[in-house]
Amino acid sequence: MAYIEPAPLMDKENPFEAMMSRFQTASQILGLDEQIYNVLKSPARQAIVSLPITMDDGRIRVFEGYRVIHSTILGPSKGGIRFDMHVNLDEVKALAAWMTWKCAVVDIPYGGAKGGVCCNPREMSAGEIERLMRSYTLSMIDIFGPDKDIPAPDMGTGPREMAWLMDEYSRTQGMTVNAVVTGKPIVLGGSLGRTEATGRGVMVTAMSAMQKLKINPYNATCAVQGFGNVGSWAARLLAERGLKVVAISDLYGAYHNENGVDIEAAVKYRDENKGSLEGFKGAESMPGEEILTLPVDLLVPAATEDVITSSNADKIQAKLIVEGANGPTSSKADSIINSKGITVTPDILSNAGGVTVSYFEWVQNRLGYKWTAERVNRRSDRIMKDAFDNVYKTAQDYKVPLRIAAYMVAIDKVAKTYKYRGGF
Ligand code: GLU
Repeated sequence: MAYIEPAPLMDKENPFEAMMSRFQTASQILGLDEQIYNVLKSPARQAIVSLPITMDDGRIRVFEGYRVIHSTILGPSKGGIRFDMHVNLDEVKALAAWMTWKCAVVDIPYGGAKGGVCCNPREMSAGEIERLMRSYTLSMIDIFGPDKDIPAPDMGTGPREMAWLMDEYSRTQGMTVNAVVTGKPIVLGGSLGRTEATGRGVMVTAMSAMQKLKINPYNATCAVQGFGNVGSWAARLLAERGLKVVAISDLYGAYHNENGVDIEAAVKYRDENKGSLEGFKGAESMPGEEILTLPVDLLVPAATEDVITSSNADKIQAKLIVEGANGPTSSKADSIINSKGITVTPDILSNAGGVTVSYFEWVQNRLGYKWTAERVNRRSDRIMKDAFDNVYKTAQDYKVPLRIAAYMVAIDKVAKTYKYRGGF
């Protein structure tokens, strides 16, 4: 029997605890008042709903759906909806809090939220997914609203699902309300540049960090884990700026090419192959987890949570890690990575380009006006660059890693706003 390489053990961290451990460290360094700490650590609202859906074979299946609003201190809450088999309340709680910190880091006027349904969209028909999304929307009708809580895509959802959400919400209001959700198809009021926005923000963050580390992009190599929306756009845009993307991967395996993977060809292959890179001929295939430990300058984990852990962190050879996914590094791996002198730009900074352009989409919907792609990109690049500079300066001033600095910037902003607004 062929030997199968054991997968690296995940730290199996509860993502909410992973978020809390960084939040706690940053709060201590900031000297955050314990009472404010207690306010910020508890999600403002949590909804759990049961969604009975008639499947194509006529049977009724019951799905569990969640929406967690972590905070509305900075403004209406914002955050995506995840359709994935691993969705659970603790994960959604962590992701909602990450949205609060993310919006604060890039200084956009939103609180944080996240939603999800535990399901496997890969095994569902378009009709089943549509019924699930419409039913989820109706269950959340008192929560969603263009001035209250504004959803967006996340893992397993995209413009198609956002169109169904907008339509279902609009029906209940008796009018079209396109500002209730972002990440819509362009014809429904989606923003130019939204699809590539998260990957573009990853690229801007990577370029800013490489400049500080004096890494010349034209001599740099890069590995990108995850080839969904974020990973494939990040790979494409980094390659456009001169980096050699030597490895890419998806759920089914990794693909390595010393001379650089042709990203356009890989995207085309994936799109014609039901979203998978399996069988891609432009590179040699290798075990999926090895992508994290390749000798590259830049590593972009853009797949899912908890992939860089205490069991593989010491094998990482990259000089720079730019987190495209939410929570890819376990808190136990942080100290190993830091002691190796690897620079990490954290998720709440590096993947904030998506929510930034979501904000632009919402602004355009409310103005009833459309911006050019050039305007969207110019403004989001500036926001990402300013956020990077601010976090970098905080890291230098307090002599802390960029991750803790990003939390400090975010927590400070939310705490100050809370103090001005006041509580009961
Ligand atoms: N789901 C994305 C994220 O995690 C985008 C959220 C949004 O645009 O509201 O940042």
